[in-house]
Amino acid sequence: MKYNSTNGVSSPVDFKEATIRGQAPDKGLYFPERIPRIDAKLLTDIENLSNEEIAVRVIAPYTGDTIPMETLERIVAETVNFPIPLVPITDNISALELFHGPTLAFKDIGARFMSRCLGFFMGTSANTRKVTVLVATSGDTGGAVANGFYGVEGIEVVILYPHGKVSPVQEKQLTTLGKNIHALEVDGSFDDCQRMVKMAFTDDELNRQVFLTSANSINVARWLPQQFYYFFAYKQWQDKSIPPVISVPSGNFGNICAGLLAAQSGLPVTHFIAACNVNDTVSGYLQTGEMKARPAVATLSNAMDVGDPSNFVRILEIFRHRHPDIVAMLSAATITDEETLATIRDVYSKHEYLADPHGAVGYLALQRYLGTHGNAKGIFLETAHPVKFPAAVEEATGRVMDIPSSLAALMKVEKKSRRIGPVYDELKGFLLHVTRY
Ligand SMILES: *Cc1c(COP(=O)(O)O)cnc(C)c1O
Repeated sequence: MKYNSTNGVSSPVDFKEATIRGQAPDKGLYFPERIPRIDAKLLTDIENLSNEEIAVRVIAPYTGDTIPMETLERIVAETVNFPIPLVPITDNISALELFHGPTLAFKDIGARFMSRCLGFFMGTSANTRKVTVLVATSGDTGGAVANGFYGVEGIEVVILYPHGKVSPVQEKQLTTLGKNIHALEVDGSFDDCQRMVKMAFTDDELNRQVFLTSANSINVARWLPQQFYYFFAYKQWQDKSIPPVISVPSGNFGNICAGLLAAQSGLPVTHFIAACNVNDTVSGYLQTGEMKARPAVATLSNAMDVGDPSNFVRILEIFRHRHPDIVAMLSAATITDEETLATIRDVYSKHEYLADPHGAVGYLALQRYLGTHGNAKGIFLETAHPVKFPAAVEEATGRVMDIPSSLAALMKVEKKSRRIGPVYDELKGFLLHVTRY
């Protein structure tokens, strides 16, 4: 399988090259040259297959001959080694809980899969230089990447986060590991962090000395394994004669785009809903056929505060830019913070289910859609554990949550970070220092 750049200038590469590079040299995103058709037997047998078996069959056409089968099986086994249950909430709504991984958010799957692929590629490469993964985080990405790459040979990880602007749990998740994980606490905003990271990627002098790559959802090795969720959901779906409507809390649109890809390759799904907070540029596109990016606004579901979703162009590719085909398969909903809090409260008082703000956005978007679509039934993705967002959940329900023991232990570990100013030269100095071995 080859991957083309969505900008159409850079030459096609295989999965290994696409993973190592992250983004194509022409600044496009890598996209598979064709969408493989899933084997019909995978769907008919799905209830008898383990999650590992399903995941290997789904991803193998995408990794092609870049990863031997035994290695792929090991990587997948290490990626999906926690439960992903489908939990019924009402007669027609179920939650697919994606938060049972080590950092309690769905990004664990993509980060773990990518880290192991990159570790394998660096280990087998004739080039023995170390690779440095550089990311800016506003919260969940940092923890998942730190955890996923912790202790992986040949890879140093540098994470920038804005001082005082990530939650205490999120900060501990990215500052307590040590070893090959380096946390830089920037005296500035998330935008400052992102700007500094972008400058590093375009600094030719630095890139001659340090081999840098990114671990955000534009990387195919983080994006593609997110298809697994949708197959695991279908495996647990009772009435296979009426496939589910699936509501996906969306920010950068990596997750929902993986779902659309799975459906395009043959997984039965009735319809997708992009559940957004007030950062809803894609909703505008669906209505008008024109995409207008806007600066992001801060909300309670902060992992979805994205004004210019980077994976949107992949949705256009999946549907070959045909707007009518896109709107037939995909709707969008806009949910305010007030509605988010009211939904957390309602779902808890009526169904004794604690949703986090992102899941609540997904729930309400689905409930509204089902209200106007007769007998349809659906699934919303619960993308984070509510304990990661205690303030909103307590405000809505009045309930103080018990902290899981793993998290309580983590909160006692001392944080290790290096404080830097919002200045590119400080980041550059650190990158040159940390990669010198
Ligand atoms: C990252 C994230 C999202 C948004 O996912 P995208 O793939 O960027 O659309 C939603 N919820 C949570 C909890 C997240 O961490």
